[in-house]
Amino acid sequence: MAIEKLLIANRGEIALRIHRACHEMGIKTVAVHSTADADAMHVRLADETVCIGPPPASDSYLNIPNIISAAEVTHADAIHPGYGFLSENAKFAEIVESHDIIWVGPKPEHIRVMGDKVEAKRTADKLGLPLVPGSDGALESVEEAKKLADEIGYPVIIKAASGGGGRGMKVVEDPDKLESLMSQAKSEANAAFGDPTVYMEKYLGDPRHIEFQVFGDGNGNAIHLGERDCSIQRRHQKVIEEAPSPVISAEQRKEMGDVVVKAMADMGYRGAGTIEFLYENGEFYFIEMNTRLQVEHPVTEMISGVDLVREQIHVAQGDGLTVSQDDIVLQGHAIECRINAENPKTFAPSPGRIDNYVAPGGMHVRVDSGLYAGYMVPPYYDSMIGKLIVYGRNRDSCILRLKRALEEFVVTGGGLKTNVPLHQEIIQTEAFKSGDYTIKWLEQWLKDQAD
Ligand code: ADP
Repeated sequence: MAIEKLLIANRGEIALRIHRACHEMGIKTVAVHSTADADAMHVRLADETVCIGPPPASDSYLNIPNIISAAEVTHADAIHPGYGFLSENAKFAEIVESHDIIWVGPKPEHIRVMGDKVEAKRTADKLGLPLVPGSDGALESVEEAKKLADEIGYPVIIKAASGGGGRGMKVVEDPDKLESLMSQAKSEANAAFGDPTVYMEKYLGDPRHIEFQVFGDGNGNAIHLGERDCSIQRRHQKVIEEAPSPVISAEQRKEMGDVVVKAMADMGYRGAGTIEFLYENGEFYFIEMNTRLQVEHPVTEMISGVDLVREQIHVAQGDGLTVSQDDIVLQGHAIECRINAENPKTFAPSPGRIDNYVAPGGMHVRVDSGLYAGYMVPPYYDSMIGKLIVYGRNRDSCILRLKRALEEFVVTGGGLKTNVPLHQEIIQTEAFKSGDYTIKWLEQWLKDQAD
């Protein structure tokens, strides 16, 4: 069934991103928003708008009854959840489908399986994806954890089964600390995710984070669109992403691409997904799968020319995939900088009013952001206020263009700060320019700068 009106259950740049794909496809949009977002760009551009509650996300963007009611009163025939908020909530996906509304996302059972990281690893193992050595399932007792850590060797990492956003992880360097760190991990997991279940993995010393973009039609056909390298991280959160990875050869891409495509085809996966790996000494280790669109999806769009949101909509309305693996030709290089409203030195969130806003432009420069002069960045949500994505024929030209684009970027306001200066510095380092960095690099470099 062709979607005529789609409700966007999200805010900020991703809501705008989805709105744009819809309008290019002739689909009308419904923006839902909290009272804090009444003046947001995606609300201004949408065909219809519905206020779904007060500022706290739990009362608005996570408020399932209000979102479903908004879809009913506006007669929306589909819901796109974006990323974050309800995007990986299997129950929400089921509720949407039970109201005869098209869910622009994977099958609820796949969201559920991959949302529990312990189940996800079991499933990945069955599907033939290589795993990080670790516990077979949840850790039941300290004794069991000790025994396992002795077997796989320290350091180990204790992770929350329901974790996300880099939270709820504890690295254990030696046996004496295991008991206390495990109990801390459990209580933090319970506080953050309402689930104290934890599991253990070998802590890899110096890996890169490399993830594959996959797409399935739900009927056993799947493709991949290459990898993204997201190793520039702080506190396990991505700061800069690029595609392709500077260290993956065409042969490795093909080899791993075949593995992930087979896994998704066997699973009958539907829609967009990302399979995340750590990569060390030439080996891939599965860590998790995200059953949604990722923040960093534009770098894949830049090198493949495929509009991933459009593809999601086609799959959701039953058209199947509009591209085959043979159609996917990856060309050139793309880098994304996440622009956050934060102090570039202390990383404290820095919301406030934007007085001046000039987005960079020119050839191969894309800014995904809902910012405008006069906009108030509200304090209630994530500090990411936009993304700068730049393309080049090769990595070197991409970095030169990125430097130029960052120089043009103006986002200022009383009290408001952004991490643009940090990006400018990072991309000038030898490590970044040579592509020779791992997930540890940024934090070490920040420490060296502070000393
Ligand atoms: P989340 O869902 O919270 O993002 P992930 O499992 O994707 O958690 O891990 C996030 C990041 O944490 C990884 O990109 C990596 O930097 C680090 N990490 C996770 N597992 C390991 C591990 N076994 N060894 C080393 N680093 C890890």
